[in-house]
Amino acid sequence: MHRSALVHNPLVQVILNATVGAVLTEDGRTTGVVVYGPDRRRVEIRAGNVVLAAGAIENARLLQLSDPAAIGLGDGRQHTGRFLQDHPIIRTAEVIAEDFRLLQDRYVALHRGKRRLFPKVRLAPGVQQERGLLDATAVFVHDHSEPGLAAARRVLTAARARRMTERPVADVLTALHTPVPVLRDGYRRFVFGRSTAARPSAVWLQVWLEQTPDPDSRISLSAQTDSLGMARAQVDWRVGDREIETSRQLTRWIAADLRRLGLARVRELPAMQDDDAWRAGVTDAFHPSGTTRMSDSPDTGVVDPALQVHGVRGLHVVGGSVFPTSGYANPTLTIVALALRLADRLAVTAPPGRDPGATVRPGGDGLSR
Ligand SMILES: Cc1cc2nc3c(=O)[nH]c(=O)nc-3n(C[C@H](O)[C@H](O)[C@H](O)COP(=O)(O)OP(=O)(O)OC[C@H]3O[C@@H](n4cnc5c(N)ncnc54)[C@H](O)[C@@H]3O)c2cc1C
Repeated sequence: MHRSALVHNPLVQVILNATVGAVLTEDGRTTGVVVYGPDRRRVEIRAGNVVLAAGAIENARLLQLSDPAAIGLGDGRQHTGRFLQDHPIIRTAEVIAEDFRLLQDRYVALHRGKRRLFPKVRLAPGVQQERGLLDATAVFVHDHSEPGLAAARRVLTAARARRMTERPVADVLTALHTPVPVLRDGYRRFVFGRSTAARPSAVWLQVWLEQTPDPDSRISLSAQTDSLGMARAQVDWRVGDREIETSRQLTRWIAADLRRLGLARVRELPAMQDDDAWRAGVTDAFHPSGTTRMSDSPDTGVVDPALQVHGVRGLHVVGGSVFPTSGYANPTLTIVALALRLADRLAVTAPPGRDPGATVRPGGDGLSR
């Protein structure tokens, strides 16, 4: 939505630099939120409907920071913060290409107009189902150590964003020092939409995975506090055996295909045999989800199918946190669809004016209203 659509809408007030600290409740329904300004001033914003859309870590933290007894999350309270999922990423093999260009021209970013495409190898859905594996894809990560090209790329990226690189003069001089590869890559990029023609120093197979939801993988409240004196989120992210097995199966299938097609040999990394090496090498992708999962019943989740927290009228949650399972692919369109559906429902059930108390109760001289 364009900024002016919000600024000029008489029904909307945007409050910037405001950190939500808790949800207010009374008798099984929400009555608003507590908000802190940059000067730590505490303000209560009264509203009959509240939608938490603060991401999977913060949604769970805010629900836990709010008085659980007053919120009356029922049995669902036990699920808040649990089933934390992310994207485990693991390097499983080194790929030694027969002709490096054949792989590089197909699997390093392609450019089509203003679009940048990242080709991936995906596990076929039928095979995934048949073998009971998780959803997964693999990418060929190409390491390049040509300093002139790296400097040219930094300059180009910075110019697009209308800013400077950290060392603009050094970067421009380094790029000019190696004019042939820079001009050749520029030509390929802008005429054919292909990435670099430089030989990579190494190529790695990297697998990105869906996760099995695990109740012990969770967000809870830490004993440490933030600058507002509120408990920080404590993240206990767990990765299970099916993730390990899926990454190894996918790697072996890709290796077999690369050999069969005469494209490359594959050298397996220790993570392919050794679970400890796998766990030491896995990283997340800053893609948290699942911590306020949707369910029909408070016994099995946090929000109902209409995104309302079980047992708390008017309190809703939206975002990746409501996914019972997260799948592999980016979920932004699903999140937007859920948000639009919720907005439509709220517009019908709580038209402006019928909101029991859309007022700001400042705990000092107040935020602007
Ligand atoms: C399986 C999976 C695959 C993904 N793949 C991709 C991908 O390919 N590419 C990609 O770019 N992304 C990817 N993502 C990330 C995805 O885009 C994000 O998960 C998604 O945007 C999260 O949306 P959200 O609305 O839940 O939270 P967010 O977009 O994080 O929005 C939360 C907002 O709340 C604000 N906030 C937080 N706490 C407070 C507070 N206390 N008070 C006030 N405001 C607060 C934050 O500042 C932020 O603006 C993937 C995620 C998943 C789960």
